[in-house]
Amino acid sequence: MPKVAFISDIHGNLEALTAVLRDIDRRKVDEIYCLGDIVGYGPDPVACVDAVRARASVVICGNHDEALIRGALGFNQVAREAIEWTRMLLRPRVFRPRSFARWRFLGTLPLIAQRHGWLLVHGSPRDPTSEYVLPRHVAWSPPGMFDEIFSAFESLCFVGHTHVAGFFTHKGEPEFTPQAAIDGPFEFRGEKMLVNVGSVGQPRDRDWRACYLISDDGLLEFHRVEYPVDLTQRKIRAIPQLDDSLADRLGSGE
Ligand code: ZN
Repeated sequence: MPKVAFISDIHGNLEALTAVLRDIDRRKVDEIYCLGDIVGYGPDPVACVDAVRARASVVICGNHDEALIRGALGFNQVAREAIEWTRMLLRPRVFRPRSFARWRFLGTLPLIAQRHGWLLVHGSPRDPTSEYVLPRHVAWSPPGMFDEIFSAFESLCFVGHTHVAGFFTHKGEPEFTPQAAIDGPFEFRGEKMLVNVGSVGQPRDRDWRACYLISDDGLLEFHRVEYPVDLTQRKIRAIPQLDDSLADRLGSGE
């Protein structure tokens, strides 16, 4: 079984992605899987797309990647303005062959993939790009939500989308264990787990550091990586189409 690093929700944050890729290289990983949302919110979508294309062997489509190509349906104003600005940068241009290759890459990302018996998806198996499986759903969720989600995979399902790292189990009742409560590697014991690998470029679990996960021979481990967040914040504030709140939230991790 290869040693795999899972990254997700980079959201155009090149400083966070660069720090994470450096950390991944230090740990001698065989493959990188990206669970979507390379773009949206952040100031460096083009460089992030190029880095993910060059490094990840599996890339899943996220809701922001989808909105870039097909339109920002259901997005709030801040997210919509950010994706429209991102589209201006990424749309294909005559005499720029790389822009066509990038656009084709983003437009043909799969919604779902399977590797080593694991299911890989951005949001959830029953609604690949859009459904949020949040910690609060453990207390209350639409009837059948966890039954349906957990019946859609065999062993492990890796997701992103909520930007909240941790894992869900479902033995009769759903349970969520946040990344902050896990110290070091944890074992996969054959009981189904839905693992949220966290967000590289815009964490929302009150920890500003970039998050990713490594799977190595039955052991899973979250990693949090510091990066020059003030630099990313300055870049966001210098771009009128990116709302200042997007810079603020990077500092607080909320
Ligand atoms: Zn996202």
